[in-house]
Amino acid sequence: STALVWLRRDLRLADNPALAHACAHHAQVVPVFIWAPDEEAPWAPGAASRWWLHHSLAALADALAARGSRLLLRHGPTLQALLALAAETGAGAVYWNRLYEPAITARDSAVKAALRATGLRAESFQAHLLWEPWTLASGAGEPYRVFTPFWKAASRAPVALPRPAPDARPAPAAWPASVPLATFGLLPRLGWDTGLRAAWTPGETGALARLGAFTDAALARYRDERDRPGRAGVSRLSPHLHFGEVSPRQVWHAVTTACAGAPLEHPGGEAFLRELGWREFAHHVLFHFPHTAEQPMQERFARYPWAADATAELAAWQRGRTGYPLVDAGMRELWTSGWMHNRVRMLVASFLVKNLRIPWQQGARWFWDTLVDADLAANSLGWQWTAGCGTDAAPYFRVFNPQRQGEQFDADGRYVRRWVPELAALPERWLHAPWTLPTDEQARTRFVPGLSYPRPLVDFAASRAAALAGFEAIRAGA
Ligand code: FAD
Repeated sequence: STALVWLRRDLRLADNPALAHACAHHAQVVPVFIWAPDEEAPWAPGAASRWWLHHSLAALADALAARGSRLLLRHGPTLQALLALAAETGAGAVYWNRLYEPAITARDSAVKAALRATGLRAESFQAHLLWEPWTLASGAGEPYRVFTPFWKAASRAPVALPRPAPDARPAPAAWPASVPLATFGLLPRLGWDTGLRAAWTPGETGALARLGAFTDAALARYRDERDRPGRAGVSRLSPHLHFGEVSPRQVWHAVTTACAGAPLEHPGGEAFLRELGWREFAHHVLFHFPHTAEQPMQERFARYPWAADATAELAAWQRGRTGYPLVDAGMRELWTSGWMHNRVRMLVASFLVKNLRIPWQQGARWFWDTLVDADLAANSLGWQWTAGCGTDAAPYFRVFNPQRQGEQFDADGRYVRRWVPELAALPERWLHAPWTLPTDEQARTRFVPGLSYPRPLVDFAASRAAALAGFEAIRAGA
């Protein structure tokens, strides 16, 4: 018999339960990817994600071809595409791995019901998360809203062992037609992707190489180095995890092995798995509170007095021209490489929302379009956390100070010098506050504040005070 494997964000052969099930129970297996971005609206993949997807699909197609199989590509609507392919191949079953975002779960349930109504077998599997959102609940039977108790419960739950890639299957007698990958139009028309190509290797091989490099080198020092954006202290696995080129189970068990079987007693292992726990928590929250992709979890924050017209400020933030070196370094790292270090994500988000008083949703949208790891659950949680309006929020009165953050986490200036080359010649002492550079140093370094590099877009202390006054206003009205 023949089965279709509908691939989505599980672009790997190893530890892929839908693929493994199809291979174990069917003589012929037809893997298919269907491009139907409208079905994910309003969160269809952004530009950087589409770039990644293109290369990841190409890599998966090669990996399948090396095993005598193929990756079929079709355009949506998904249901019609699956029904057509089932008819063409005589398939009796369709398998896929579950995702958890609101638009996707709604679409998937409808597809499952419609496939079953035509007599096809339709089955979905757990692959994208370690613990599915409905399997964990607080003592009161409610979804978790705070990370620490979530993690306490979750990290005690067992994590199944990953399974190897299935053996090659006999190909169908005749392969159905596939559209060329180029017809998805995923690559940019203007060549802005040089930095992305230099930074990343999308696909399962690239993901496993990244995981191996991390467990070999950085994991042992992860707890101490993870907050230093100028060091190679973090895994950079986020886009690979988002597209399912490696499964969270594979990551969990690779870390367990590297920590001699007891990762939670290992400082690096514990700190890293806790971050993987944040990924799970983000999905838990979005699944149970689907409105949080657009609306603040704490309703009173919807009344926050945002700046009236901040178009110019938003543009300066997006381009990395705010005059605050660590903020600008982060925004340029994002624009060039499609990724930003977590410490700097928190800072640039705090700066947008608090110092510029621009709604967090606008920052989330920019991230959505520019991050290769753009993920609705993690992005919504990250923005709401920093804005102070989400679950488990950082207190709203915490406003990151870009200069202090720079002095603390990029003390040697390696990160800022890399991404803001105008500042490269400045001594450390002034690097994170270039507007204070004394005149004799200006002459020596040929650096002129306001000319070589923008002066601060806003005064930190005054904008912080305005942000806090805004919070007081909604608190008083609550
Ligand atoms: P590591 O430190 O190596 O962590 C390992 C993995 O754990 C990551 O790959 C990621 O899957 C997960 N993880 C780590 N931190 C978090 C976190 N805070 N929340 C959820 N998962 C986490 N992450 C995304 O994957 N996609 C996003 O769109 C995204 N948007 C964010 C927006 C803001 C404003 C903030 C503050 C954070 C955001 N994050 C997002 C979380 C975090 O910044 C990234 O996951 C992390 O920087 C990825 O780098 P890494 O793989 O080297 O992380």
